[in-house]
Amino acid sequence: MATIELQKVEKKFGDLHAVKPIDLTIHNGEFVVLLGPSGCGKTTTLRMISGLEAVTGGRILLNDRDVTWAHPSERDIAFVFQFFALYSHMTVRQNIAFPLQAQGESRETIRQRVAEVARLLEIEHVLDAKPGSLSGGDRQRVALARALVRRPAAFLMDEPLGALDAEFRETMRAEIKRLHIEQHATTVYVTHDQIEAMAMGDRIVVMSDAVVQQVGTPAQVYHDPANLFVARFIGSPGMNLLRGHYAGGAVHLRADVACQVPGDWVPALNGALGGEGDVILGFRPEAATVNSAGLPASVYATDLLGGYTMLHLEIGDHEIVHARAGRETHYPIGTPVRFALDPAMVRFFDPKTEKAIVREVTA
Ligand code: ATP
Repeated sequence: MATIELQKVEKKFGDLHAVKPIDLTIHNGEFVVLLGPSGCGKTTTLRMISGLEAVTGGRILLNDRDVTWAHPSERDIAFVFQFFALYSHMTVRQNIAFPLQAQGESRETIRQRVAEVARLLEIEHVLDAKPGSLSGGDRQRVALARALVRRPAAFLMDEPLGALDAEFRETMRAEIKRLHIEQHATTVYVTHDQIEAMAMGDRIVVMSDAVVQQVGTPAQVYHDPANLFVARFIGSPGMNLLRGHYAGGAVHLRADVACQVPGDWVPALNGALGGEGDVILGFRPEAATVNSAGLPASVYATDLLGGYTMLHLEIGDHEIVHARAGRETHYPIGTPVRFALDPAMVRFFDPKTEKAIVREVTA
């Protein structure tokens, strides 16, 4: 069990600032996902926690112990990579036992622990096989077993499912989550896949350009993104973002189209924009309902996605918004429609700072 604390941890590779100072506490038993596009600094952050990469600033604490300069082997942290190197000449049993042998455990302890972890991961039937004869999913399970058998204080996982096809990814995603629920080991998990992050994380650390953009639960980053980057990056498609001018309690999207601001937002908008000013209105596709009243648009395209329909609605000059509708919805291209926004689900951003405007929420 472990608490991991990053205090102003940063990394420079020469002139490249790969990770700008991060402050983050990962609580005991928590599953934290580092999420962001390629090159944003996720792997470097993970490698600094593991000790494989030296920090260029800040401190790392493991259970309140300063491990900033401790060797990886002194950190009691297991690292699971995307491409697992299983020893091909050894059986699965020998592969799993290997870290315990290296630690000098007794034969009886090794036998018990291998049996226990094999049961947990349901790979008992392949214990005497060689890794080369296993399916991709089983190989992944063996690699996880090898990491688990040590009972480390924490797990670091770098895109462990990246090399798997879609079906296996889902199975293994569920498996890792189930394991986490059973074992409650502190886990830091890197991915660029926001669906994976939303499905697995207790909290998500959204990164871009070497900077942490937001730390929050999946619901927080989805419903209350801290800035435009998070609003666009989370969700598939991302949040609808419409530029407008706020004045007199409404956002004017065009000369003849305005959207009334819900009453509980008015004080925050007045405060943030000094009474009036340019603003960005944000809402998720499921916040928009095609209706007989509301904002005018025309149907640009429709995606029938099985359980629901994603409508692409054109409003004004080639501006497209996405709205979720029932699966029976059929609108020919070009149909004029109106859509209304759920007042509880609208958000506002300052176009200058790109940050969310925050309102006081009274319980
Ligand atoms: P990906 O998902 O592609 O792995 P990432 O978010 O994990 O991306 P990092 O691998 O942490 O990003 O890389 C962050 C930045 O640091 C990138 O610009 C990368 O090119 C650079 N970088 C990483 N390792 C080194 C290194 N050893 N030397 C120089 N630059 C590096």
